[in-house]
Amino acid sequence: MTGVKVLPQAGPPGAESRPMVHAEQVHKSFGSIEVLKGIDLQVRAGEVCCLLGPSGSGKSTFLRCINHLEKINAGWIRVDGELIGYRERGGKLHEMREKEVAAQRRSIGMVFQRFNLFPHMTALDNVAEAPTLVRREKKSAARERAAALLERVGLGDKLGNYPGQLSGGQQQRVAIARALAMKPKLMLFDEPTSALDPELVGEVLDVMKDLARDGMTMIVVTHEIGFAREVGDSLVFMDGGVVVEQGNPREVIADPKHDRTKAFLAKVL
Ligand code: ADP
Ligand code: MG
Repeated sequence: MTGVKVLPQAGPPGAESRPMVHAEQVHKSFGSIEVLKGIDLQVRAGEVCCLLGPSGSGKSTFLRCINHLEKINAGWIRVDGELIGYRERGGKLHEMREKEVAAQRRSIGMVFQRFNLFPHMTALDNVAEAPTLVRREKKSAARERAAALLERVGLGDKLGNYPGQLSGGQQQRVAIARALAMKPKLMLFDEPTSALDPELVGEVLDVMKDLARDGMTMIVVTHEIGFAREVGDSLVFMDGGVVVEQGNPREVIADPKHDRTKAFLAKVL
């Protein structure tokens, strides 16, 4: 990988304002097409960063780079001070083995537009599965925690339901509980409400608001401007693989500086 500089660690763990996500000059190409053209981003612990931008601007690709589902071509990403996908040794960067990458990924929860629940498992089993398999928690303890998480997302009465017996909004809340079951320090949301009927969007956003209030660090790709305005600590507007504009969500939404931001907001507001 070219263009990678070895940089000092982020602030001490425990410091509330420490950077949870720090990305510098992230480049990503697919073949000859450069999709990310040098993304810089900082999200502090406990903050909610809303990522907006037109379709094809590279938002999903960037999220996938954060948990190394995509390998970046240049730049670097740290999560809670730890370089993603690479180890520093002797002043050089070495690509991590898949096992180490998997360990890093465990601390990053991801929720997609499509919920991808296991259709043959109950809500409870969907949530308890990874903690028992991956975290090797005791089955009884994992199921107890899964029940508490489902309670937390308002599904305490649906533990035994299969995904097919749940609405889209309920399924997405199970997916959120499933991600939380791995005790992530960072949650990435990729258009979590885009596939939902309009009347089901609110219940999912409410769960996300609750999470934010609880201090979870989140990056949320969304077209829900109301959510960005109300819950976001920062708003990042991407277009064409670059960050065009960023700042306080209320300020950017009320008074976008860049023509591309203005045009985008005019369409979604
Ligand atoms: P967004 O989420 O903002 O809509 P994406 O990150 O999904 O944008 O896509 C950005 C660009 O990268 C698009 O042009 C898309 O076609 C391209 N792209 C994404 N993933 C791949 C891939 N695996 N192979 C080739 N091109 C891809
Ligand atoms: Mg996308």
